[in-house]
Amino acid sequence: MADRDGLIWFDGELVPWRDAQVHVLTHTLHYGMGCFEGVRAYATDWGTAIFRLKEHTERLFDSAKILGMEMPFDKETINEAQRAAVRENGLEEAYLRPMVFFGSEGMGLRADNLRTHVIVAAWEWPSYMAPEARELGIKVQTSSFTRHHVNISVTRAKANGQYINSMMALAEAQRGGYDEALLLDPQGYAAEGSGENLFVVKNGVIYTPMLTSCLNGITRNTVLHMAEHLGLELREKLITRDEIYIADEAFFTGTAAEVLPIRELDGRTIGAGRRGPITEKVQSLYFDLVRGKQVLDDNWLTPVA
Ligand code: PMP
Repeated sequence: MADRDGLIWFDGELVPWRDAQVHVLTHTLHYGMGCFEGVRAYATDWGTAIFRLKEHTERLFDSAKILGMEMPFDKETINEAQRAAVRENGLEEAYLRPMVFFGSEGMGLRADNLRTHVIVAAWEWPSYMAPEARELGIKVQTSSFTRHHVNISVTRAKANGQYINSMMALAEAQRGGYDEALLLDPQGYAAEGSGENLFVVKNGVIYTPMLTSCLNGITRNTVLHMAEHLGLELREKLITRDEIYIADEAFFTGTAAEVLPIRELDGRTIGAGRRGPITEKVQSLYFDLVRGKQVLDDNWLTPVA
């Protein structure tokens, strides 16, 4: 990833990709205190546009506030940085990674001279999983790792260190031949995937876990709006793993994963074992929204040019 052409926005300037370096004593590298976003830009008929840019920037600032990291830039600057990272790299479609971290100004938990730094990188990342998974669905395993407790990790923050939990769960699932992990919350209810929010469908109603142990996903929020638009009932509730076994459909959502059907959980086939009709409606509307083919909210697409 480091050795390639391009530009990365780093503390207010676009710098050559290979020069966007930090020291080995970078504080965040040691203790994991930092926050980030995953954002996507899509090609539309009127040029490349970033989907829900303002909401992603808002969540980045919320994460920094929760962690007690002072942002050295305002939201407008970070919005512009994201537009510039896509535009100046000449990308038609892109995945964007804004990240906020403490530098190498000091070391130890008691360091009191740390500066907050911000980068925005953007690159092409067409599909998070195999493209056929959008139709065929993925195989998921309930993880032996538990998702965050609200008072151990702060679940409203998309914080760097939280992803230890995601990476261990995903690695375990992949070693077992599965595509993704389902993490349960500390009470044993379904929380989310390693990088996705969860939805299940039963008798025409869509259910999703409440925002206790899962990230307040922006795609999750888009699904709430889409369900309303499609006239589908959607409820937040506690969901157990066996409810998912006997659901009619289940799917994951995320900026990277987009809308991804789940065909199997713990060896039990869900519904017909492929993308179900409600998942298909939601997925198809999602792809229309991100590429500007349908509009639910005028503010959701921000052109990069
Ligand atoms: N949960 C976790 C743990 C994630 O990392 C992500 C990806 N950011 C999501 C859910 C989905 O969030 P979003 O729709 O905002 O990408």
